[in-house]
Amino acid sequence: MKISVNKAHFPVTVLGHGRRIGIWLQGCSIRCKGCVSQDTWARDPGRDMTVAQLLTWCRQTTQGEFDGVTISGGEPFDQPAALGALLDALIHWRQSAGLDFDILCYSGYPLATLQKRHARLLKKLDALIPEPFADARPLTHLWRGSSNQPLVLLSERGNARYAEYVDAVADESNKRIQTMIDGGKVWFAGIPARGDMEALEKICQERGLDFGQVSWKQ
Ligand code: SF4
Repeated sequence: MKISVNKAHFPVTVLGHGRRIGIWLQGCSIRCKGCVSQDTWARDPGRDMTVAQLLTWCRQTTQGEFDGVTISGGEPFDQPAALGALLDALIHWRQSAGLDFDILCYSGYPLATLQKRHARLLKKLDALIPEPFADARPLTHLWRGSSNQPLVLLSERGNARYAEYVDAVADESNKRIQTMIDGGKVWFAGIPARGDMEALEKICQERGLDFGQVSWKQ
């Protein structure tokens, strides 16, 4: 099964509990105003890989020492068959290796839509952060970009691990953005507050570093 992947990274520490595998899928048909991940919007067959290749990378990179997997995008549910295959592979790995990692998935679709169209996929997740990013609504809660986005617990593991975070406030003490360098590109994981990326761009410019292309504006 092929899956279109924008990038994968380990460890990610700003999108869920603990040290996590971060997987960003390529392609998003929702296109929220103010999205900071516009580089993930276009469908790009050049980014296809197999679920087996992705799992091999996960195993080799973590050596089984990690707390969870965060699947984001892009829009994971725009590739439902591939997402299902990835979740099956992760769950098989978790069971066969006796691991206890959680699987958290982001989606820009409303929760009601996901429950109606993708109930079988939701059963494979431990936690979900659904609903489109709403630029006009403030960032209020941990790991969520706008106040309309809930943290939904979908399994016993999800309840045990995430119940304390459902109402957790995003305040200045939370680390929100993580920086990574990949080849000639610098990229950021996490949930920036409004204006954070522009402020970062300005600070870098003042120090002589111009960004050629950025994902948070077209
Ligand atoms: S915030 Fe997520 S769902 Fe919305 S356009 Fe960006 S990638 Fe797509």
